[in-house]
Amino acid sequence: MSDTHTPEQRKRNMQAIKSRSKLEDRVCKELWKKGIRYRKNVKKLKGTPDLAIQKHKVVIFIDSCFFHCCPLHGNMPKNNREYWERKLNRNIERDVEISKWYIEKNWNILRVWEHEIKEDFLLTVDKLITFIEESKKSNHKEKKH
Ligand SMILES: [Zn+2]
Repeated sequence: MSDTHTPEQRKRNMQAIKSRSKLEDRVCKELWKKGIRYRKNVKKLKGTPDLAIQKHKVVIFIDSCFFHCCPLHGNMPKNNREYWERKLNRNIERDVEISKWYIEKNWNILRVWEHEIKEDFLLTVDKLITFIEESKKSNHKEKKH
């Protein structure tokens, strides 16, 4: 992070990071409770997915509304505008590139927004479980052919 940020901006960055990881923890705990076994922050997989089940070729990313420019809550900071534009645009490009990479390799990739978890925790957890179950099934079918 550049040193030229104002203290307020630095505080906001920290809050954005903390808020997202808190939600991630909540989701992870709930999935674990429901019997889903996964790995967290898998560095050897492209883009370091927040959750991954390699056996079933499943990767899940939980995107921060700020750092990934959610269409509803993303906002461009006024200070250091150039820095942020470059940084946030690079994040968006990387997200697209990572998603494409997994799709091309027949992985099952799901991105959820931080706000989805905030707004309806249980619904989002259900969505993740459905996605994981469907992915398991589709991999199974592939192997049979
Ligand atoms: Zn959002």
